[in-house]
Amino acid sequence: MEMLIEKTTKPKHIPTSDELGGITFGTVFTDHMLIIDYIEGKGWHDARIVPYGPISLDPAACGLHYGQLIFEGLKAYKAMDSVVMFRPEQNMARMNESCDRMCIPPINEGETLETIAELVRVDSAWIPSAPGTALYVRPFIYANEPILAVRPSKTFTFATILAPVGLYFKGGLVPTKIFVEDNYVRAVRGGTGFTKCAGNYAAAMKSQKEAGEAGYAQVLWLDGAERKYIEEVGAMNIFFVIDGEVVTPELNGSILSGVTRKSVIEVVRSWGMQARERAISIQELADAHKEGRATEAFCAGTAAVISPIGELKWRDNVMIFNDRKIGATTQRIYDEITGIQTGAVPDKFGWLYKVS
Ligand SMILES: *Cc1c(COP(=O)(O)O)cnc(C)c1O
Repeated sequence: MEMLIEKTTKPKHIPTSDELGGITFGTVFTDHMLIIDYIEGKGWHDARIVPYGPISLDPAACGLHYGQLIFEGLKAYKAMDSVVMFRPEQNMARMNESCDRMCIPPINEGETLETIAELVRVDSAWIPSAPGTALYVRPFIYANEPILAVRPSKTFTFATILAPVGLYFKGGLVPTKIFVEDNYVRAVRGGTGFTKCAGNYAAAMKSQKEAGEAGYAQVLWLDGAERKYIEEVGAMNIFFVIDGEVVTPELNGSILSGVTRKSVIEVVRSWGMQARERAISIQELADAHKEGRATEAFCAGTAAVISPIGELKWRDNVMIFNDRKIGATTQRIYDEITGIQTGAVPDKFGWLYKVS
């Protein structure tokens, strides 16, 4: 793809690693952004890297009204003396799955990834190097045709912005408290749960807010039809260690297929351990926990990588895992995946995409 690069004349201050610790996730952005336009009949065109700044939008832009809007989230790291992204091809493929469900035209995965890599190279001075830090990469696509009819837009913008991020959980790997939501639901089969479409997150905020007020960090969603089966957490997938086996809910159309989830399963299997994808009811978990067979619980997602769960509250059943300390299997998975990301552990799976 032909690409124009317009460098900023007013570079911003790049946060030091100390400053990064005090920055809220996703509030500071680099000097440049990537923009690609789409017009029906012409396709994706005019890829360009321009100074970061506000985008103008017609007030009738249909994406603002009806939410034809999807996003992705991945990270670029300093691994030894190179810059890498973690399995970005997976994000590009998932972006196209989201596009398909939301009637957004598909992107060319390989070419688009190249343009994102170019943006990361342009702003590579922003990639922090302290342990646990990274450059968060946020590609997104929004519908911008000015029309209030409810039908797919004929024009779109693909954009990517970059945010340097510190440790997602300030306390490090401290196990969190999670509330099992059995009133609100996030997604149903046949809906959009498997996509990263904006509306999924707007619909989840009320439950998240109420759980936050009650002292919980996140909510665990149950299936939308029966509120019986465990699905996932906020923007993370969930895993348990039950009877010494790693288990996670199977992908059923309403759960987001996480790249971290997939990586956990592959890492665990490479150790010769079981990693099962199957339906897990909340009752089964409560029973296994009561009998001492459910020994660890953790979440997996790009932002935090692995986040141990110390407490899960389902109605009046409070399940404490591993005495609120990170479990041995959880720690081992965390060490392996973050080790690969930072170059400390050999990349035997070929997961790193070299940016420079
Ligand atoms: C992004 C996301 C995840 C995690 O996916 P990763 O690819 O591992 O970052 C899980 N659940 C939801 C709802 C998400 O939005």
